[in-house]
Amino acid sequence: MSSLPDASVLPPRLSPRSFDRWNGLVTAGEDADGREVLAPFTGEAFGSVPTSTPADVDRAVGDARDAHERWADRDVEARAAVFERFHDLILDRREELLDVMQLESGKSRGDAYEEVMDVAMTARYYATRAGDQLASERRRGALPFLSTARVHHDPVGVVGIIAPWNYPLTLAVGDAIPALLAGNAVVLKPAGETPYTALATVELLREAGLPHDAFHVVAGEGKRLGDPLIERVDYVSFTGSTAVGRQIAAKAGEELVDASLELGGKNPIYVRPDVDVDTAVERTIGACFTNAGQLCISAERVYVHEDVYDAFARRFVDAVGDLTLDSNYGYGVDVGSLVSESQLERVKRHVADARERGATVEVGGETRPDVGPYFYAPTVLTDLPADATAACEETFGPVVGMESVANDAEAVAEANDTEYGLHACILSGDVKRARAIAQDVDAGTVAINDGYMTAWAAHDAPMGGRNDSGLGRRHGPEGIERFTESKTVTTSRALPFSPVSGPTALEAKVLATGLKLWRRIPFLR
Ligand code: NAD
Repeated sequence: MSSLPDASVLPPRLSPRSFDRWNGLVTAGEDADGREVLAPFTGEAFGSVPTSTPADVDRAVGDARDAHERWADRDVEARAAVFERFHDLILDRREELLDVMQLESGKSRGDAYEEVMDVAMTARYYATRAGDQLASERRRGALPFLSTARVHHDPVGVVGIIAPWNYPLTLAVGDAIPALLAGNAVVLKPAGETPYTALATVELLREAGLPHDAFHVVAGEGKRLGDPLIERVDYVSFTGSTAVGRQIAAKAGEELVDASLELGGKNPIYVRPDVDVDTAVERTIGACFTNAGQLCISAERVYVHEDVYDAFARRFVDAVGDLTLDSNYGYGVDVGSLVSESQLERVKRHVADARERGATVEVGGETRPDVGPYFYAPTVLTDLPADATAACEETFGPVVGMESVANDAEAVAEANDTEYGLHACILSGDVKRARAIAQDVDAGTVAINDGYMTAWAAHDAPMGGRNDSGLGRRHGPEGIERFTESKTVTTSRALPFSPVSGPTALEAKVLATGLKLWRRIPFLR
C-alpha cells in the first residue's frame, strides 16, 4: 500500500494532502503495492507511490485510446487554448512545483526553476505554432493540372512516454505537450525516483482543461511496465540511458511501433585561444556542473587550446573549488545533490578508476556527507588516460576531464572521438570561425559561447542525438511531426490515357514529348 508523507519532512509549501491527491492520479488498483520515494537531501523515504501492474498499463492505454478520439475531434485552436492556460498556471504555481522537484530529485532550486521556464516556453511555442505545423499541405500532384495531392497530419493515437529522473518536469511533460497538441492521448511512465513532479503537473494540466482520460500516469519498475506499454501504444518517446534505449528500440522493432530515443552523451567543450578567460571559465562551469552534472547535454570533456591552457586551468580549478553545495529549498545554491546512492556510487567508481589509472584530481574527488548523503564535490581531472571510464563513459555527475589541444583540428578530432553524438560547445571570440568548426563536429547540437541553454531553449530548432546518443528529434516542427502519421489524399481531374488498356501509340508519343518538355519548364519541375 502507498503511504503519505509526514508533514514534518516536507518543505513548507507541501502538505500530505497534496500527495494523497497525486497518488490518486496513478493508474493502479485499489490495493496496489507502494514504492518508496526518497528525498535525496536526507536519504530518507518521505512516502510511497502506488505501483501499477501490466494490467493497469492495459487499462490506462485503453482509456487513453477512447479519450484520444474525442480530444482529436476538437480543433487545434481549442487544444492550444488548454496549453495557453497551462502556461500561466505552471508559472503561477511554480514555487510548489519547485518544492516537489527538489524534494524528490535533490537538485538545487535554480536548476529546478530552469525546468519550469522550459516547460512554460514549450507550451507557449507549440500552442502558438501547432496550428500551422499540423495544417494539411498541398503538394505537387502526379501530373500538372491533371491531378492534385494533399498531405494531412493525423495523430498516431496513444503516445507512450518513458522518462528519466534527471529533469523530471521537462522530460516527462515537455514531450507530452506536442503529443497532446497533435491530438494524441498520452500514457506516461515517469522514473521511479521522481513520480510526484509528473503527477503534480498532470493535476495542473487537468486544471487547465485537459480531459482527464487524455493523460494517464503508470508508476513502477521500467522493465515490468515498459514492455506492456510498448506493446499497446502507437508511438514511444523514450528519454534515458543508451543501454535501456537499445532495449526499447528492440521491443519497438518487434512491435513495429515508431519511437524516438533521446539517450546519453559524453559531451565536449572546446575553449579556443581567442576567448576572454574569465568569461570562458564562467560558461564552462555552467556547461559542466548544472544539475550536479546530471544533465544529458552537460560537458564532461574540456579541451583547452594550449595558448590559454595555463591561465584557463588555474582559474577554472579555483572557481570549481568555490562552488557552493547545499541541501536547502532556497535560491542561490550552485550545486545540489546527486539523485541517489546508486548515482553517487557510479560517480565514485569513475573517479576511483581515474585515480588508479594515474589521473590527477585537481579539485574535488570526494563525497560531501557534511552537506547530504549523496553530495559529491565538483571535480576536475587532468592526465586522464583515454581508456579510463571517466574519459569514455558517461559519468552523469559533477566530474570532468580537462586537457590541452594544439589547434582546432585536434580539438575537433578529440571531440568526435566518442561513441556518442549528443551535444558540443565551442567558446571563441571569433564566432565565424566557431561556426565553421561546428560544421565538423559530429553532434546533434553545437552551442557557441554557451553551455547548453541556447541550444535546448531554441524550441523552434530540432534537438537530439547522433550515433549512440539516440534516434529522432524533439522540439521544432520535427518534435510534433513525430507524433503524427501522414495521409496523402490525391484527386484525379483527368487521365492522360485509359486506366485499363494503357496509352494508344499516339498518346504514348504525346506523353513522352510532354515528359521531356516538363523537365525543361522551370516552374513545372
Ligand atoms: P534509465 O535508462 O535507467 O531510465 C529511464 C527510464 O526508463 C526510467 O523511467 C526507467 O524506469 C525506465 N526503464 C528502465 N529500464 C527499462 C526497460 N527495460 N524498459 C522500459 N523502461 C525502462 O535512465 P536514467 O538513469 O533514469 O536517466 C539517466 C540517463 O538518461 C543518462 O544516460 C542521460 O544521459 C539520459 N538522458 C538523456 C536525455 C536526452 O535528451 N538525450 C535527457 C535526459 C537524460
